[in-house]
Order: sequence, then structure tokens, then C-alpha cells
Amino acid sequence: MSDSLKINLAILPEDGLRLRFSEGNAWFQGCFAGDAPPEFSLVSADADCLITRSGDTIYVRGDLSAQMSRECSRCLEPATISAGGAFAYTLVPEKTETAQDLELSAEELETGCYRGDFIDLAPIICEQIVLVAPMKFLCAENCRGLCPHCGVNLNTGSCSCRSETVDDRLAALKKFTVKK
Ligand SMILES: [Zn+2]
Ligand SMILES: [Zn+2]
Repeated sequence: MSDSLKINLAILPEDGLRLRFSEGNAWFQGCFAGDAPPEFSLVSADADCLITRSGDTIYVRGDLSAQMSRECSRCLEPATISAGGAFAYTLVPEKTETAQDLELSAEELETGCYRGDFIDLAPIICEQIVLVAPMKFLCAENCRGLCPHCGVNLNTGSCSCRSETVDDRLAALKKFTVKK
């Protein structure tokens, strides 16, 4: 549950806290309460985190492995993508006077603020999932997409309107999709 990702700094062990967890889409969507959630759904996320501190500064280092799904941007069939990697995040205590300045530099340096004795890993992990998600989901690297004329899925069928001209238009359509 999400509550297990709240860490009480008052009892953080001297040599750091190791935390492993797995979450799914319900948890992920819940992290965006009030905000627009990403357009993909989370199949699963596994993270292995080490939380350490030096004075008031908290360091989160982790390894993320996520699977996410969305319709293929070429053929519109479901596409599941694996992504992840190592990440590092630094948290400093929130100071009311300089809170705004800190927040500004925070985004550039992957630094955040915490208040009181607790930090919540959930928004940090969700941010990492969004960061590693691809801009474009493809069911397969060589997905042939849909025929721009009749809409047939060219991975599973063929149609009679395919020709050199159609291929050129399809290429143009792909470029358009990438820019979007
Ligand atoms: Zn596809
Ligand atoms: Zn066709």
C-alpha cells in the first residue's frame, strides 16, 4: 500500500533504509489525484530504493523497473513497454522563507523538499515512471500501422490500395505522429 512508502526520518537507521516494493495502476493513478494523469496505464512497477541521510539532507537512490501500456501509436492495438533504470533524488527540509526559490531550482536538480519528519516516496517514484515512459508507444519496432486509406491493420491484413504513393503518404503520416 502507498502508506508503506512514507518514511519516518526520526527512525531512519544510521546506515540507511532499504525498501523494495511493487505497485500497479490503481496506486499510480492515485498519485495524480487532482492532476491530469499520464495517458498510459501502469502494468507494474518494481523499485528497489536506498534512503540515507547526511545531516538534514535525504538521499534516495533507486532502481526502477516498470511496465506500461497504451495503444500503439501506429496501429492502435494495445502496446506494452518496459522501461526503467537507476535514479537519484535529493530532499532538503522546506524552509518557509526560501521555499519558492528552492522549488525553482529543485526541478532542475531532481531535488525536492520535505516537511517535518516524513518523506513520501510515492510521488518520487511516480515522477520517475513518467520520466522513463516513451513519448510514443509501439506494439513492435516494425509495426506497419494502419492503411491511411481503408484503415486495415497492415500487421494482420492487407488491402488493395497499397502502392508507392500510399507508402509515401504513410511515411508522411508517421513523421506527423512523431512530432505530435
Ligand atoms: Zn502497432
Ligand atoms: Zn487500404
